[in-house]
Amino acid sequence: MSDTAEDPTYGPVAGLLSAVMASCGDAIIACSVEGRIEAWSQSAANVYGYTSQEAVGETLELIVPPERVFEIKKMADAASRGEATKPFDTVRIRRCDEAFPVSVSAFPVRGDGGEFAGYVVVEKEVSGLVRSADELRKALASAEEASSAKSRFLANASHELRTPMNAIVGMTALALEEEISPELRDYLETIRDSSDSMLHLINDVLDLSKFEADRFELDETAFDPRELVEATIKVLGAAAHAKGLELVCRVTPTTPAGVVGDPTRLRQVLTNLIGNAIKFTASGEVVVEVEPIAVEKRRCRLAFRVIDSGIGISAEDQDRIFAPFTQVDGATTRRYAGTGLGLTITQHLIDCFGGELDVTSSLGEGSTFSFELTFPLAEESDNAAANEAAARLRGLTVLVVDDNEASRSALVEQFRSWEMKPTAVATGREALERLARTSEEGEQGFNLAVIDALMPGIDGFSVAAKVEADERITAKPILMASTTDRLEFSRRCAEAGAAAFVQKPVSQSQLLSAVVEATGAAALGGESRQGLFQLPEVAPLRVLLVEDTPANRKVVQRVLTKRGHHLEMAVNGREALDAFRNGQYDVVLMDIQMPIMDGFQATEAIREIEHAAGKEPAVPIVAMTAHSMRGDRERCLRAGMDGYLSKPLDLQQLIDVVEAYADPSVGLTAAAIDEPAKTASVPSDETQHDPADLVSALRRLRGDRGLLVDMIGFFEEDAPTLLQTVQAAIEQGNLEEVQRAAHSLKGLAATFDASAAIAAARDLETASRDGAAESLPAGARRLAAEVDRLCQQLTAYRESQSI
Ligand code: ADP
Repeated sequence: MSDTAEDPTYGPVAGLLSAVMASCGDAIIACSVEGRIEAWSQSAANVYGYTSQEAVGETLELIVPPERVFEIKKMADAASRGEATKPFDTVRIRRCDEAFPVSVSAFPVRGDGGEFAGYVVVEKEVSGLVRSADELRKALASAEEASSAKSRFLANASHELRTPMNAIVGMTALALEEEISPELRDYLETIRDSSDSMLHLINDVLDLSKFEADRFELDETAFDPRELVEATIKVLGAAAHAKGLELVCRVTPTTPAGVVGDPTRLRQVLTNLIGNAIKFTASGEVVVEVEPIAVEKRRCRLAFRVIDSGIGISAEDQDRIFAPFTQVDGATTRRYAGTGLGLTITQHLIDCFGGELDVTSSLGEGSTFSFELTFPLAEESDNAAANEAAARLRGLTVLVVDDNEASRSALVEQFRSWEMKPTAVATGREALERLARTSEEGEQGFNLAVIDALMPGIDGFSVAAKVEADERITAKPILMASTTDRLEFSRRCAEAGAAAFVQKPVSQSQLLSAVVEATGAAALGGESRQGLFQLPEVAPLRVLLVEDTPANRKVVQRVLTKRGHHLEMAVNGREALDAFRNGQYDVVLMDIQMPIMDGFQATEAIREIEHAAGKEPAVPIVAMTAHSMRGDRERCLRAGMDGYLSKPLDLQQLIDVVEAYADPSVGLTAAAIDEPAKTASVPSDETQHDPADLVSALRRLRGDRGLLVDMIGFFEEDAPTLLQTVQAAIEQGNLEEVQRAAHSLKGLAATFDASAAIAAARDLETASRDGAAESLPAGARRLAAEVDRLCQQLTAYRESQSI
C-alpha cells in the first residue's frame, strides 16, 4: 500500500482514514464538502484504473455515469445533515469505459471542531455476486425445465403406451372368444390379467405425471351424487360378492340431486377407496356413505366415507401409505396386488377438489377413509315420474329382513325417506315370527317384506317359500341378494314366490321400481309422462338434421316434428352443404362421423359459404356425437360449431338445445354445450346380465315407453342390415365400411345402454380403424352374437308392451 498519512495528496479527512483505507478491499474515496475527491485508496485505484494522483482533485463524476450524477448530491446532502447513506446498488464506470455493478454507501466525516468536513464513500464491486446470482437463477430454471420435461415426457409416454395396451387388452379378449386349446387359453388369460394390471399402472403413472407436470384439469359438469356413488358401487359389486362381503350404499336422502363438479374424477377417487376397502377386508362389510353437512342456497358440502371391517392400518403406517409406491409391507404386497399409487393419486385428486383425505383406523379393526367437498348446486333434473311413484308408497308398511346391520339401516332410511313405515329384523326366524304374529293377532299385516336372500340360518328363499305357503300372511316379499348370477337368482325368486327382486348393491331407482312392482303401484312412466311432446311455446323452427344413421334420424325427426318444428334431413356432409345452399335454417344438428364428408368438414364449409356471402348471423350448428375423447368438445367448437350434444341423445336436452335457438335471449352456449357421451365409461364388467339396461334407457327417454318401443323397432330394422354390411365389407376387405357400420351399431346399442354390444362394436370399430384385418371375422361374430342377444331382449320387451 503506497498511500500513507504522510502522502502530500491527503487532506485532513484522509489522514484519519488512511489506515482503514490501506487494509480494505473495497474502493474508499474521501470527498470534501465541495465534492472534490481528497483521498483515493489503492483499492479504488485498482477498481477504477485511475491512480491517486489522477483522481484527487476531481469530482466523483469521474466514475459516476452521467445519468446517475444525482447520487453524488444525495450522498453529500445526507452527510451535511450528519446522516449516512445506506448501501444501494448502482453502476460505476472504469477508466476503460466499462460499466459494472457496485454497492455504494457513504458516511459523514466531521472536523476536530465537530463541523461537517466531508464524507467517505465505500464502493463494493458486486459483479461476482450478481454473476453468481444470475448463474443460480439460470441453474434453477434449467433444473425446473428438466424436471418439467421429465414429467412431460412421462405424461406423453404413458399416454402413448395406453394405445397399444388397449389394443393388447382388446385383442386378447377377442382371442379368448375363439375355440382354443386349454394351454393357449391359460397363456392368454395370463396375458389378459397382466395387461389389465399394466394398463392400470400406466393410467396411474399418467395421472401422477399430470399432477407433476401441472397438466391436470378438472371438468365441471352437473351430476347427481347418489347416481354416481350407486353406479360406482354397482361395478365393484362382483368383487365384493366374490369375497362374500356386504357392500352397502348409504346416501342420506336429503343429499342434493344436482351438483357441479368432476364426476369422472370423483368416481375414480371412490373406486380407489372402495377397491382398497374390498381388497383389504376378508369378511364383513364395506359401507359407502354420503352425507350433506351443509346445504346452502347455491352450494353444499358433502361428506364421503368409505368404511370397511378389514385388516386396518397401524398409526405409524397411516403416515406412510399416501406416499407414491408405498404399501404397508412386503408380505402384504405379495398377498394383495397393487402398485401403491392409488392413495397418492386419490389424495392429489381430493386436494384438487379442495378437500382433504383423512384416515382413521387401527390394526384388525377396519379403516375409514373420509373427505369433505364443497360443490356448487346444479339445477336438479325434475324427476317427476320417480317422485310420483314414491308418493304412491307413502304410508305402506314394510318388514326389512337382513342380517347385515349397515344394509338393514340403509334400507330403513331409504323407506323412511319415501314416508313408508319400515320395521327391521335381523334373521329369517324373527321375520317368520313377526309375520305370523301380525296375522294371528289380527294386526294389520305388512304391505311388503324386503328380504335378504343370503342369511345364516333360515335364508331368504326359505322365508319367502314359507310365507307363500301360509295363506294367513299377506305380505309379498321382494328378495334381494348379492348374487351375481342374476338368472339363477330370478329363477329361485320365482320358485319361492317372490313378487319382485333387486340385486345388491341396491340402487335407489332399482329399489323404487322393485317396490312399485311388488306392491302393484303404477310403474314408472305410463300416465306419469312428462309432457315431452306438448306443443312448444316457441315458434316452429327450421332444422337441418345431418345424420347418417337411419335410426338416429328417425328418433330426432319424431321428437322434433312432434314439437312442431320443420325438419329437413341430409345423410352426409355433402348433402348438408347442398341443402344449406338452397335453404334457410334456424339450426343445424350435425353428426360428426359420416361417410363422404364428415361433420367437421361440413361445418367448416358452411362457415366459409357464410363468410363469402357475408351472412349474418351465422346459423347455429350443434354437434351430435358419440365421441367421448376429452378435447372433442373443443374440437367441435374450433371447427366453428356452437354446441355439443352427446349420444345416445337425451331427448329433453335435444329439445332444450334446439329450442334455445328460437329465443336469442337464452344463453346458448351454456345450454348447448354438454359433456361428451358417457358410452365409453360403460363398464364391461358390470354385474348385469341382461344385454340392455332398459331402466336407464327409459329414464333418458323421460319414461316414454311408446318411444322406447319405437326405438326398438328402428333397432330391429337397422341392426340386421348393418350386420350384413359389416359381413360384406369384411369379405371385400373394405375396412372403412366396416368401421362405419360398427360405429353405427355402437350408437344403436348405446340407445339401450347395452354394454356388451357397445364393447363388441367399439372393438370392431377400433380393429378396423387400426387395420387389424385378421381379427375382424372373430370381432364381427362376437358383435353379431351380442346384437342377437340384445335383439331377443328388446323384442321380448316390445312384445310385452303391446299386450
Ligand atoms: P395399492 O392398493 O395399489 O397397494 P394404495 O396407494 O391404494 O396402493 O394403498 C397403499 C397401501 O395402503 C396399501 O398397499 C395398503 O397397505 C394400505 N391400505 C390402503 N387402503 C387400505 C384399507 N382400506 N385397509 C387396509 N390397508 C389399506
